[in-house]
Amino acid sequence: MKALLMATAAVMGFSAFAAQAEEVVNVYSSRHYQTDQALYDDFTKATGIKVNLIEGKGPALVERIKSEGENSPADVLITVDAGNLWRAEQQGVFQAVSSDELESRIPANLRHEDGKWFGLSTRARAIFYDKAKVKEGEITSYEDLADPKWAGKVCIRKSSNIYNQSLLASIVEHKGEAAAEEWAKGVVANFARQPVSGDTNQLRGIGSGECVVAVSNSYYFARLIKKPKDSDKGLAEKLGIVFPNQNDRGTHVNISGAGVTAHAPHRENAVKFIEYLASDSAQRYFADGNNEYPVVEGVAPNSTIKSWGDFKVDTINVNAYGENQPTAQKIFDRVGWK
Ligand code: FE
Repeated sequence: MKALLMATAAVMGFSAFAAQAEEVVNVYSSRHYQTDQALYDDFTKATGIKVNLIEGKGPALVERIKSEGENSPADVLITVDAGNLWRAEQQGVFQAVSSDELESRIPANLRHEDGKWFGLSTRARAIFYDKAKVKEGEITSYEDLADPKWAGKVCIRKSSNIYNQSLLASIVEHKGEAAAEEWAKGVVANFARQPVSGDTNQLRGIGSGECVVAVSNSYYFARLIKKPKDSDKGLAEKLGIVFPNQNDRGTHVNISGAGVTAHAPHRENAVKFIEYLASDSAQRYFADGNNEYPVVEGVAPNSTIKSWGDFKVDTINVNAYGENQPTAQKIFDRVGWK
């Protein structure tokens, strides 16, 4: 018992010393952009809190936090897609945070109701078409993807992809399970080929002539415009972008987001860090890291994104993407969406 007390005292003494020596926040992130590093440096300059960054794929980081348990050094988890954030929350990775700043700056539909995670940027799941084969206005909605008119012409990635799970989950929420299944069945019937991985590969399918219309998140198109690989030169010019469902519910958007972990050793610093990411000055750069849209009103996106114009956004609560994820998965299996 005495030994244990001494050991405890030693640990406490050490952590008190460490806290005095240096304020830190440990961030586990599935984002890996130059702009993010510049942002973190800025945060350190403004607050004196050092950012220790651990990068990895979202699901791997969640597994890591779970296996580290109460001893996890993680304070903040940053990952993409409300579907992933929802899954992480279900696994007990986050704790509730209440912050007037975050609640007033981030729209309620883009964050967890108990503050377990917060959306920090958005991306649109857009439809693209071959400008040589399709006229502007010929395809305008997700529903059109299931129209027999496009038989053998539609490219979209696999059902294991979280972006598609979230898209289908949104349709379940808006139209119910039966209608969502009808839609998924129609899309499968229109496949140009069995789904392959990667949104960019759907856009390349238009370039190669295999696909006529394709579904991709908006930032992949921005990347093709701004920094195409040599083999992708000229591809962006062949593509038209459609923000679907402008005459009804609006275009499906998803988020990049962050939450404070359940056992965060530096909870206060973690909250400060997320508040910083929602500040006007950080918003633009955080969104820009991946050519996304800022979530805070009045902060403009970069000029490439801006050039596509404003569009009506589906303002559904993104929590529904998680809640309907099991239903979406079952529908995908039933309709044979690989
Ligand atoms: Fe992506």
